[in-house]
Amino acid sequence: MGGRDLSCYSESYREARTKLLAESANAGLPVISYMLPRLRGPEHEELATDIVEIIPASATRLVIVSTGVHGIEGYAGSAVQVEALRQGLLANLPDGTGAALVHGVNPWGMAHYCLANEDNIDINRNFLPAFEAAAPAGGIDPARTGGDIVSGESTHRSAGGNPERGLAGDLHAALSRGQHANRYGLFFGGHKPAWSNTTWRGILARYARGGCRRIIHVDIHTGPGTHGRAELICNFPQGTPAFDRARTIWGDAAIPPAAGGPPAPSAPTGSLASTLPDYATSITVEFGTKPVDEVLIALIHANRAFADGFRDQKLRARAMRLMRDAFCPDDRAWCRSVIDQSFGVIRKAVDGFQAVDTRPP
Ligand SMILES: [Zn+2]
Repeated sequence: MGGRDLSCYSESYREARTKLLAESANAGLPVISYMLPRLRGPEHEELATDIVEIIPASATRLVIVSTGVHGIEGYAGSAVQVEALRQGLLANLPDGTGAALVHGVNPWGMAHYCLANEDNIDINRNFLPAFEAAAPAGGIDPARTGGDIVSGESTHRSAGGNPERGLAGDLHAALSRGQHANRYGLFFGGHKPAWSNTTWRGILARYARGGCRRIIHVDIHTGPGTHGRAELICNFPQGTPAFDRARTIWGDAAIPPAAGGPPAPSAPTGSLASTLPDYATSITVEFGTKPVDEVLIALIHANRAFADGFRDQKLRARAMRLMRDAFCPDDRAWCRSVIDQSFGVIRKAVDGFQAVDTRPP
């Protein structure tokens, strides 16, 4: 096992996308690409959300596996998708069932090793029905909480030059609730729908039009938590039919959105999954990497580099190193475990249609 091929993992967005497109071509599968206008990656590569479609004409049931909602977290998800294509994980789907691999929902963030997008928007807080209703007071105000959330500067000063201290309280609140007050702050939900938002809605509309109206959705994330452990977070609350379906498909491993503490970063208000119809079943798989404070330190560095316009190369390089380590660590056991556990979750999703009726009303 130690020598297992982990070449499904990539260091850059260009490398990840190249692998995805190559494996799709190998398997003879069509790819639909939504190009992010105007912007490029660090290697001047084009940026896109790509969808590999394994969808027979007869399909009325669809498994959607999405990755890269949180930019940098997409390196783990991308590896899962590439390896799934290499191993033919979805090659023999049951009759009437299709699968769509949505790669790089936030391609700019993935390419630039950021969690947020090109406008510093946390995509998983951007799917709001009305932005006027997202009052800044509902979240935290980074300006009042301190510059640490904005740039790391005041933490740096107040802790005597060590940005690694004194981060816990307010940042944890920001992490769980998001904010719409400061466009340079962490966990900023935006003031209008981001490109990734309208693109994702377009993807859902495409499948609704195509008759795939039974959906089981798996959204792959990484971040704070026990190293290598997967949390399966239901994207619909306890007491809903969608929650019960998730339990039927994934068993007790599927936990409610806010189980055992503050809401997970991937299940805030305005999440991607909130766009799904209520006959869909949706789960967020969150692979733990490091304790939350260490992840936040990486995010603060990335935020500082972004606010600096990536001019300071030393700052940027440090931010990238910390971000990679916080969201896709260079650890073979972790990388293997992400693939294995994700395959298990996806297999259960495919089989899930047998167990639950997700027919639209
Ligand atoms: Zn995430």
